Amino acid sequence: MAKLLEGKPIAEKIRALLAQEVIELKAERGVSPRLVALQIGENASSEVYIRNQKKAAESLGIEYELRSLPEGTSQAAAEKAVNDLNEDRSVTAMILQLPVPGEIDAAKISGLIAPEKDAEGMHPKNIGKIVLGKYSIGPCTSMAIMELLVSTGVKLYGKEAVVVGHSDIVGKPISLMLVNNFATTTICHIATSQLGHLADHVKRAEILIVAVGKAGLIKGDWISPGAIVIDVGINKVGDKIMGDVEFDSAETKASFITPVPGGVGPLTTIMLMRNTIEQFKAQARAEKL
Ligand code: NDP
Repeated sequence: MAKLLEGKPIAEKIRALLAQEVIELKAERGVSPRLVALQIGENASSEVYIRNQKKAAESLGIEYELRSLPEGTSQAAAEKAVNDLNEDRSVTAMILQLPVPGEIDAAKISGLIAPEKDAEGMHPKNIGKIVLGKYSIGPCTSMAIMELLVSTGVKLYGKEAVVVGHSDIVGKPISLMLVNNFATTTICHIATSQLGHLADHVKRAEILIVAVGKAGLIKGDWISPGAIVIDVGINKVGDKIMGDVEFDSAETKASFITPVPGGVGPLTTIMLMRNTIEQFKAQARAEKL
């Protein structure tokens, strides 16, 4: 039976280390990191993220501000808000809260965030650093997955890793991180499934990462004995939240498996905070040059 890979205890350990780091940085620089979340319009689903971010930031001594632009804000006004935050030296990191109203081009707004203030690690320049294998920040979900893998103590070197899902936010960056760690990495996507090859790839996986958003896509009997299974998927099925992997049958074959909910999710906000702190440190280094 697999060991459960729960995010919360790992998040708590990282939180304690980061809190100490913020105390030291504040003593050194006289100021704390300051994260601004930019929200455009109102959206009930972002409220819970905002609450979690605020709580996590405050527990670490990071200043957190929610800057809300009203419903009906124009694209030009939203772009100006980002440019103003870029120019405000007291703001050390920012995040665009998604979703935004339909008339707003979120990709364009995100792309305007200065790479050195990008808390989500999604700016092309920051993604580029992952490609080059030289990064201290990265997309929060991928960074969370790496922490879960590290917590198993299993070396990735030469392991067969299979990533299912190739989104810009999860599948692609985690694949690059696995390659940077010398895992032999296969990326599966919709075409893999449509041509009937998904099961064959999954069966080879010693490390399996699934980020698709389809409940039960990965059958338990596809799991290779002893595999590490990280299920990123979040699917509402009736009144339950389920992952993309058939948990009950996969658990009997895997060595480690994430529960859904409770695996990747609890780590993502702390990764956002770590990105915020890393950006603050990089800004301090740049000022010294
Ligand atoms: P996207 O919808 O952006 O990407 C899904 C990916 O899965 C795409 O690459 C898609 O390919 C691929 N795909 C779709 N159907 C299949 C299939 N049948 N077989 C193989 N691949 C398929 O989703 P995200 O990456 O943003 O998120 C994935 C899941 O992870 C969602 O459930 C989301 O809610 C969850 N999530 C959880 C987080 C957490 O904190 N726990 C954080 C982020 C996401 P194509 O585009 O070619 O169709």
